[in-house]
Amino acid sequence: MKKKMLTMFALLSIIAVLGIPAAVNRLSPAKIQKNGTMVHMFSHSTGQVVNLSVDDYVIGVVAAEMPAEFPEEALKAQSVAARTYIIRRLTGGGVSNPIHPGADVCDDHRHYQAWISREEMKQRWGIRYYQYYFKVAMAVYSTGNEVIVYGGQLIDPVYHSSCGGAGTFSAGEVWKFDDPYLKGVPCPYDADPEPTRVAAFTLSDIKKATGEDISALPVAGPRGFFQVLEKTSGDQPKTVRIGGKVFSATTVREMLGLRSARFSMAMEDGVVKVSTLGYGHGVGMCQYGAKGMALKGKNYREILQYYYTGVEIAEGDS
Ligand SMILES: [Zn+2]
Ligand SMILES: [Zn+2]
Repeated sequence: MKKKMLTMFALLSIIAVLGIPAAVNRLSPAKIQKNGTMVHMFSHSTGQVVNLSVDDYVIGVVAAEMPAEFPEEALKAQSVAARTYIIRRLTGGGVSNPIHPGADVCDDHRHYQAWISREEMKQRWGIRYYQYYFKVAMAVYSTGNEVIVYGGQLIDPVYHSSCGGAGTFSAGEVWKFDDPYLKGVPCPYDADPEPTRVAAFTLSDIKKATGEDISALPVAGPRGFFQVLEKTSGDQPKTVRIGGKVFSATTVREMLGLRSARFSMAMEDGVVKVSTLGYGHGVGMCQYGAKGMALKGKNYREILQYYYTGVEIAEGDS
């Protein structure tokens, strides 16, 4: 922790004298630490395993997983969640990695957390690179070694982009397991500017994805092509019928590549219009909700303790 305070102090001093670009250049390129915990990360673009300090790993994850223009307190909440994720994985007691042998994680969000390099940050942020890099790095450094614990154990800090303002799901509503700290909560300050999106599918798209030919079915009613059979506690579809088959909403999301499992379907002129609310699986921290809470003056601890029920923020080992 002391070392991080010194790093921050050094950064601030360089900025005071030379400005942000100089400060970023003084930060050595993603460094290999002789001491301290290392993250062995498989890079999908190079096919190599790179060794990163926990800080460099977390900075790349926050940059990849949350828009850098989000408020500082939201970025800090994201930093602590991303750090908890990797520390839990590293201290899990030799977790095997069947996807990438020899690596702890990779940079693909479908396997682990997304991560981007400084080069990718430059491409993504353009002229705002220095400003945003510094903002993200400060969020990471200023939260030290903090991690999220429940009952003394590191949590699985799952998060998603947006619940669309409908509130988050309990883990058990989406996956096959429940965790006491992954309970659905309302999300009154969700700041998603465009929570509802519509995607169009042809009848053959639907047939390819579900195996159901719905071309001869009515557009509405109990015999219609689509029906919600069961809802979640938050009034969202849990089980649906498409044609003659019953699916979980989560399965339909996967089959059709929908932004979320909160959807409704309508047919117009032989085209199926699927309207989705929010983006992501809907469990744990809602990032646009975190943004909204930060804009309302809540700090990162309040944000994390809101979305992860009954947790504490603890100082991890350095
Ligand atoms: Zn991977
Ligand atoms: Zn939300």
